[in-house]
Amino acid sequence: MSKIIASAAIRGANTLVQQAEEMLEKAIADKGKDFAFEFPDTAFYLPMIYAMTAFPVKNLEDMRVALGMAKEMLHPEPEETLWKPYLGEALDSGMATLFAEEIILALRYIEGLEPVKDPETGFEYNGFITDTIQRNLGIQLVDGSMPGFAAIIGAAPDEEKALKICRELQEKNILTFLSGNVNGESVTKQLLRQNIELGWDSRIVPLGPDTIHTLYALDWAIRASLIFGGKKPGDFKGHLQYQKDRVFAFAIVLGELDDIKWTTGAGAINMGFPAVADTDIPVIHPTGVCTYEHVDKEFDHDQIVQKSIEVRGLKIVVEKPPIPVSYGPAFEGERIRKEDMFIEFGGQRTPAFELVKMKEVEEVEDGKVTVIGENWQEKYEQGGKMPLGIVIEVAGRKMQKDFESVIERKVHHSINEAQGLWHMGQRDINWIRINNAAKSAGITLEHLGVIWSTMMKHMFKSIVDKVQVTLYTDEADVERVRDEARAIYKERDQRLGSMTDEAVDTFYSCLLCQSFAPSHVCVITPERLGLCGAFNWLDTKAAFEIDPTGGNQPIEKGQLIDARYGRYSGVDDYLGKASGGAVESINLYTIMENPMTSCGCFECIIAIVPEANGVMIVQRGHQGMTPAGMKFSTLAGSVGGGLVSPGFMGIGRNFITSKKFLSGDGGLKRIVWMTKNLKESLREAFQERAAEEGVPDLLDKIADEDVCEDSEKLLEFLSEKGHPALEMDPMI
Ligand code: SF4
Repeated sequence: MSKIIASAAIRGANTLVQQAEEMLEKAIADKGKDFAFEFPDTAFYLPMIYAMTAFPVKNLEDMRVALGMAKEMLHPEPEETLWKPYLGEALDSGMATLFAEEIILALRYIEGLEPVKDPETGFEYNGFITDTIQRNLGIQLVDGSMPGFAAIIGAAPDEEKALKICRELQEKNILTFLSGNVNGESVTKQLLRQNIELGWDSRIVPLGPDTIHTLYALDWAIRASLIFGGKKPGDFKGHLQYQKDRVFAFAIVLGELDDIKWTTGAGAINMGFPAVADTDIPVIHPTGVCTYEHVDKEFDHDQIVQKSIEVRGLKIVVEKPPIPVSYGPAFEGERIRKEDMFIEFGGQRTPAFELVKMKEVEEVEDGKVTVIGENWQEKYEQGGKMPLGIVIEVAGRKMQKDFESVIERKVHHSINEAQGLWHMGQRDINWIRINNAAKSAGITLEHLGVIWSTMMKHMFKSIVDKVQVTLYTDEADVERVRDEARAIYKERDQRLGSMTDEAVDTFYSCLLCQSFAPSHVCVITPERLGLCGAFNWLDTKAAFEIDPTGGNQPIEKGQLIDARYGRYSGVDDYLGKASGGAVESINLYTIMENPMTSCGCFECIIAIVPEANGVMIVQRGHQGMTPAGMKFSTLAGSVGGGLVSPGFMGIGRNFITSKKFLSGDGGLKRIVWMTKNLKESLREAFQERAAEEGVPDLLDKIADEDVCEDSEKLLEFLSEKGHPALEMDPMI
């Protein structure tokens, strides 16, 4: 390893540890050693220190102890005359740096200095990344729609190059974190001056203006092995190996490097994250810590993203329809405000609908887009609003009628991924907007059809061979065809509603989360969707047809061993193999005995409340306390990682209104507490189910956060309301 790099990493670590110590002693003098601290919305204390050492830093005195651990990893700078491989010392120093940076940032939070607000522009950086954000993005991490993470540190030579690098990362669906500066200039500022949308929706997230803010990105990475990987705090080797093998992160360092950049980089190399710089630095070739090169250089800014991807060993295939605007998931969260809007369709402003229909192969002319309507070109050119009926006809040898709704749900994503196009809703309550910039770039009405015909074939390769799109723009036509569409929606709903676990021979697995939680298997049945909420039985059935060797595999149900708890011989056989022997048996309809494993991206958590003889349900993102005595983030910490935890389980939100929801434990009537958010979002379906269970006013008997956040008040409320759980058989 280069002596220059090692010396800089060692010097930088010594500087930061000293800085952390000075700040810490001052804070202790001001506030006392017992002053408590936690980063916002995390169950993992100071995550890097916790993952590496299992030591939970809860107050200033704990920081002193953790800093002592950092000091033990420091080394003196190599002497002028000394020659040796310095890798071990540099890596130790890098880890000491990460500990010191985490403590410094925690102390800055205590002082109210984080997240940083830029005094010139008023822009507020993201600061610490919460557990909620991490879990929200979980599904994208595992399904390949977010293949990697880039940390850009410093500033590009000019604004144009800064934007080009970030756009290239966006188009490759890579989540980008920004930090650091070069003499006050930074990529964040370069993008802000060009009015580029920053934040989670655009997948470009400025963490803070200094190099030490890169630690927030590393804190996010290390929580992947805690949350999804089930690695235990203190298993530092397990964590570092997991980071190298499963978290595809890398750094692009723009502009001159200093000791702090080098030492932070050494910390990141410990985690297997390489760096590519645009300046003439010494390189570090493979030694086994990272997958390939550890530090490399690339002076050409048109090549630096590609070079970084190669150095990290990422494989990225992006399908883009032939349209005149950028395309990719990074544009999915883009909003179009009224003043930026060129034209809109639907959204209760004009009649509109969208429908996918299966046709015979010979009835479809692949790639054909037809727009029907009087003077539709002129009306489009005027902008404003227009009626729009969308009929997407698909054909393929393996296409089935059941897949129509699965494909139809992708209308939303495929349009939203186009820059300057926006979609909301579905069926006959859809709403599409095109902004002025997309119109100026040349987006026409036909391009909508081009997007669907390209992307449907790409997403559903083995079931869709041909796609043709017809767009209706005259109000009378839209209303007439919409009536036909409504009859089809109704027929589909009736068919789906009648689908039960008993009526099929095959369930499906989802193994996507195994890339993060190796022992987790979602067993998806007609009446139980995946716990992330993103896949139902039909989705997984279609996914298996599309990719027979992919993450969704059929599970022959086999014999019913226990009808009450939902145990099947075929499910147990499959699980034994698919979980690598970690899980031998599960019950589908109970939380009490061998419930399904949980990965980390569940929409909700159910937890037993023994005092109330029932369960509570809290959704991801809820910040408050619950009657289980834990917040969502703490509960999630003990449920995830591919574990079976009787009494606790991650679920998809819509499972709550399934007839199979905890049916072995008494079903819906066991719910004693549920957040207001869940009550409101499920109200209609919940009330229907409650009536079926003979308690039509059940929702009013269930407490929420406005009623109480502890079990004592909960019991009072339940007794007062006469909640049925109090009369049911004991859960334990
Ligand atoms: S269905 Fe289950 S395994 Fe598949 S992505 Fe969702 S949570 Fe992960």
